Amino acid sequence: MESELHQLSEAMTMPRPRECLACYVLRMLEFGCHGRHWMGRYRAMRAPRATALERRMAQKGGYCDCEMLMNVVFPNPRYFRVDEDGDIVIDPKPPCLGVRGGSTQPCALWVGRGLGRGLYSF
Ligand SMILES: [Zn+2]
Ligand SMILES: [Zn+2]
Repeated sequence: MESELHQLSEAMTMPRPRECLACYVLRMLEFGCHGRHWMGRYRAMRAPRATALERRMAQKGGYCDCEMLMNVVFPNPRYFRVDEDGDIVIDPKPPCLGVRGGSTQPCALWVGRGLGRGLYSF
């Protein structure tokens, strides 16, 4: 598994300028969930001072990268298509709306548990 990851080009797995944690992790999950590999990489590259990130994610049920997107952040229905059953269609995902550097907040495409409480705070 590790060697597979090493074969991915560095450039492909770089967070884009202003790309938020949630959009980055979703994009990287295309390469599979490898524990907290992607949130750890984002933190190392973009927010090295957010040392508690993985611990805070785990407290909210995000024990790995895919669980973060299942349990911690949710697509904001304002920006995603909703199908006939009322389910949010995540594909195609709108482009990341951007966050400031050093932030581990998701952009406005994402909301936390319980809609209407505003943006989730990490
Ligand atoms: Zn996972
Ligand atoms: Zn984003």
